[in-house]
Amino acid sequence: MTARPRAQRPRLPETSQGQRAARHAWNGGLTGKTRTGAEVAPYTWCTAPGCGSEATTGQPPAAGMVQVAAAGDGAGARWWCPGRCAVLARTRAELRAIPMRTTGGGR
Ligand SMILES: [Zn+2]
Repeated sequence: MTARPRAQRPRLPETSQGQRAARHAWNGGLTGKTRTGAEVAPYTWCTAPGCGSEATTGQPPAAGMVQVAAAGDGAGARWWCPGRCAVLARTRAELRAIPMRTTGGGR
């Protein structure tokens, strides 16, 4: 059996009076449309000069920058700010190192 995408899964309609009452109680009496979320950028680019530049010379573009080796996609190592940028780069490399399953189903 293959898992269907979320949009194709059947949903039970909540039409009975008991279901509406239960939802109303669970929401603390709040019903109706939800308000729209705030306009917040999920990711902000680092503006430090040299951050994310390819590590070709072996010398960091700025003092304290960390060299992080890429993995999985054949890209070379890059220099990143210590802290957030380096952590994001390492995490990205680790995620790319996970082998992708190319064939679906088959179980
Ligand atoms: Zn940075």
